[in-house]
Amino acid sequence: MFDLDFFIDGSGRKDEIKVKVYEAKCSVALPKSSLPGLDLALNPYVGCEHGCLYCFAPDIVKRPRETWATEVGYRSNIPVLLNKELRTKRGTIGIGTVTDPYQPLEKVLLLTRKCLMEIVRHDNPISVQTKSDLVLRDIELISSSARPEVGITITTSDESLALKVEPGAPSPRRRLEALSKISEQGINCYAMIGPVLPFVGEEEVTSTLEAIGSTGCRRVMVDRLRMRPGLEEAFLGSKVVWTTGCLTDTVRMGTLSRYVRDECVRMGLKFETAF
Ligand code: SF4
Repeated sequence: MFDLDFFIDGSGRKDEIKVKVYEAKCSVALPKSSLPGLDLALNPYVGCEHGCLYCFAPDIVKRPRETWATEVGYRSNIPVLLNKELRTKRGTIGIGTVTDPYQPLEKVLLLTRKCLMEIVRHDNPISVQTKSDLVLRDIELISSSARPEVGITITTSDESLALKVEPGAPSPRRRLEALSKISEQGINCYAMIGPVLPFVGEEEVTSTLEAIGSTGCRRVMVDRLRMRPGLEEAFLGSKVVWTTGCLTDTVRMGTLSRYVRDECVRMGLKFETAF
């Protein structure tokens, strides 16, 4: 294990964090995916520096939540395995189903990029999911793959709220700019509002959707907030919510989801539900 110092380069914020980086070899590069529209999953990292409060990936990959954002494994052998597996495995590859393939570590290690180079050579369709504008670095590669799709998560356009709930991720402004550039290039793209945060107001939802609409992207995918033990405490501790029950108010969640759908219709955006 070795330590690297990273500066998280968000919207004008420069929070120095220390990330423990370790080699995490894998035995399979492309496990099957059960997510809708995906056949295979590719996750070059274990852990994610973006450290979103609501992340449910640690539960899926059975990693301690406490170190999810501060100890990140890189699957050093994944490009080699991928090369072998792509000779027989066909189907749409979801890139970043349980980690962000464009988290800061990718700037240094280029693992996602190396994987993309293999995928392009074998011509599999891909669907990339990220919260980072680093995806623009690879946009030519992505666009040269078979049937590329890119989803950028924009949970909120409120910069201060995003800083609290997604402390290590690029700012909403940068994500919106990335979505704009991807859309301009004619790549099939969508904005993921995932999860819809049940405590935000309708005005904030409208602002976020207007910001998404202004990028030229016409698809909005939404996901619900998945509760887990400790989630409410994390939101309370980060001063995102001030009282208990805000995250479990199912009536409010239903109302807000319908509001998102109705606003999408009003703005001419295609509304889709994830998972
Ligand atoms: S970007 Fe995705 S994988 Fe990374 S912490 Fe956030 S929700 Fe989890």
